[in-house]
Amino acid sequence: MIYLDTAASYPLLPEVKETLIKEFENHYANSAASHYLGEEVNKSINRVREMLADEIGAFPSEIVFTSGATESNNLAIKGALLSKDPKLKSKKHIVTSAIEHKCNLAICNYMESLGFEVTYLMPNKNGLITAESVKGALRVDTALVSIMHANNELGTLNPIKEIGQVCFENDVLFHCDAAQSLCKTEIDVDNFNVDFMSFSAHKIAGPKGIGALYIRDLREREIEPVIHGAGQEQGVRGGTVASPLIAAFGTAIELFPLRYKEFSKTKALEFFKESLQATGITYSENGHGEKLSHCCSFTFHDVKVTKLIRENDEKIAFAQGSACSSKEIQASHVLTALGFSREEAEKTFRISFPLDISHEQISFVVNAIKKAT
Ligand SMILES: *Cc1c(COP(=O)(O)O)cnc(C)c1O
Repeated sequence: MIYLDTAASYPLLPEVKETLIKEFENHYANSAASHYLGEEVNKSINRVREMLADEIGAFPSEIVFTSGATESNNLAIKGALLSKDPKLKSKKHIVTSAIEHKCNLAICNYMESLGFEVTYLMPNKNGLITAESVKGALRVDTALVSIMHANNELGTLNPIKEIGQVCFENDVLFHCDAAQSLCKTEIDVDNFNVDFMSFSAHKIAGPKGIGALYIRDLREREIEPVIHGAGQEQGVRGGTVASPLIAAFGTAIELFPLRYKEFSKTKALEFFKESLQATGITYSENGHGEKLSHCCSFTFHDVKVTKLIRENDEKIAFAQGSACSSKEIQASHVLTALGFSREEAEKTFRISFPLDISHEQISFVVNAIKKAT
């Protein structure tokens, strides 16, 4: 099976799997326990907290472990806006974009049901959310801006530093969903001026069910927990801390950046595009500018989609630009925001390569596309 869907989830690195098994076996104690075994677990959690903090230029005390980026996004947006922070009391406006991850849009919809107003910014023709558009949407009652770093369908990188600057100058909180960009491109929370940043382990070949939220100056900030509990994670996220998953997240943070760099050197996407051209397949690339090196959206104008999918069902794992729910075909909200028709969206695929993709496999995929035209 040729797996072209790492933007949805990476397979585990073998070393991550080893850490998982070892930690489940040996570090079984509860990190909140005061005995030696508990303290050992707590130390191992805090080592990963430091690793992640180092990776993003933060302090370990500003990192909260969660179950993943979905929960981190919930904690950032609800935790800030539903808190008792007096500065936010009369501020009821949120700025986000129409191309955020589905979970972010669901959270914003929920905030609307609580009386907040949300502005959904549209991307420019390159698929980017510009700092100017953020600036133009700010109001006196804007409490929070939430814009993602790397887009999970296009692989594009939004100008987070510039957006952060706009938020800083206007004294507005800034949350950034960085699930797709962690360990793949430079992140510096100070340089970016973010107040909150969301991460997920399974987008860097770690296990599913673990992630983190960066919260600037957490100790001095009012945050309402989403999961109330017994004081874990500085009282911000209840529940016994998932130490084996965190340890495995740590192994991924340690190993993934170099593996990704090595992968990037193979220029897999360039080879894919050159092969498409050499084979005479008409395609367009969606999203332009600075992009991730493993993930890209393509529209294959002459391809017969059902034929391509049917004939490669057990050979290639494709991510299509439209999610089919029973009989109804719905174009993805990202492609819709870019002005795609339903037909165009149907012919659009997100290609996201695994670390060990070979040129032979890429050629196989290109030939499969050619056969379906
Ligand atoms: C995968 C992803 C999420 C969700 O992360 P989980 O850890 O699976 O909850 C959120 N945002 C983006 C951009 C993602 O790619």
